[in-house]
Amino acid sequence: MSIFSHSAYDKHEQVAFYQDAKSGLKAIIAVHNTNLGPSLGGCRMWPYADDGEALNDVLRLSRGMTYKSAMAGLKLGGGKSVIIGDPRQDKTPELLRAMGDFINTLGGRYITAEDSGTSVEDMHIIGERTRFVSGLIEGSEHGGDPSPSTAYGVFVGLKAAVEHRWGRADLNGLKVSLQGVGNVGFRLARLLTEAGAELFVTDIFQDNIDRAVSELGATAVGADEIFDLDADLFAPCALGAVLNDDTIARLKVGAVAGAANNQLAEERHAAALREKGILYSPDYVINAGGIIDVYYQQHGDYNPAQVKEHIETIGTTMKEVFQRADETGETTAHVADRVAEERFGHEDALKKTDSEAA
Ligand code: NAD
Repeated sequence: MSIFSHSAYDKHEQVAFYQDAKSGLKAIIAVHNTNLGPSLGGCRMWPYADDGEALNDVLRLSRGMTYKSAMAGLKLGGGKSVIIGDPRQDKTPELLRAMGDFINTLGGRYITAEDSGTSVEDMHIIGERTRFVSGLIEGSEHGGDPSPSTAYGVFVGLKAAVEHRWGRADLNGLKVSLQGVGNVGFRLARLLTEAGAELFVTDIFQDNIDRAVSELGATAVGADEIFDLDADLFAPCALGAVLNDDTIARLKVGAVAGAANNQLAEERHAAALREKGILYSPDYVINAGGIIDVYYQQHGDYNPAQVKEHIETIGTTMKEVFQRADETGETTAHVADRVAEERFGHEDALKKTDSEAA
């Protein structure tokens, strides 16, 4: 397995591997870039099929965090960690403490938080061994869980997309197809319903669907049917690579705005969406509410009003991205990448700036 020449390596500053025989921990921490500050990103626990799959995931995710934090205007770099194992079977306090020891060896270059397969409780256990852990603020309304802030940020960004696409500031009667009514998706669905949108939801768990139907009056649709609906906007809030050759051909919506990470199966799918007249909201721009929340938690000066105000800047950033894409003819995904790279000082962006200045 190659490391430095790995297709997802992309100038990572540091990749660390750790094994603790006693607890069974096998983990990787990837630090992509620390130009703007220490790297911060969640700790994912997943039963990866092999080490290569885990490495690929951590590299892609940590790079994404650099771009996300830069676009959210945070003094943070990008990093991520993965624990190889099934969170329902293999997660023990000993294993999490060993993870805390591992994180501590990086001396603060990497700060962890919740992700798929890890919870606020797990962060408390990791925090027994390292102070470089966030997402565990005591006494706050959400107890450290960034999902409500992510949902609110997506809601704000979605409204910016609607305004740009249809020139309207309200969501009354807007038909939204929403995939995945989990932590973020359900909260987003509630905000959309309160704003007057008409919701069509799907999930792979029936109880999640039932909750959205009974509490929000949403209409349930099949897991595959979600792509064929005559809706205005598609909100992917489940898994990555959901925008691909198959789904883009089927979508009838005018805009996509959702919480899921890595929504585009490949870079070229941003152009495919544009060709179909579908406005794409770059995932790491619209779903940054959680990292903004975690940033303030980490700094120990958590003020809900200040956090809300910062999250609302997602709307302004989205409008700037849409505007610039219209002006340059680039895809919204490409524009977002370029702006983020200018902010964190990506070598290629710096070269470009130098040559433009020359
Ligand atoms: P979650 O696991 O609580 O919710 C995901 C939901 O999607 C679950 O209800 C699951 O059953 C459903 N789902 C999975 N596969 C599906 C499929 N094929 N069809 C329909 N539904 C399916 O996770 P979450 O925390 O709500 O995160 C949702 C997405 O947002 C993820 O991609 C995550 O990476 C991203 N995200 C989350 C946060 C956060 O703060 N939680 C922040 C940024 C990005």
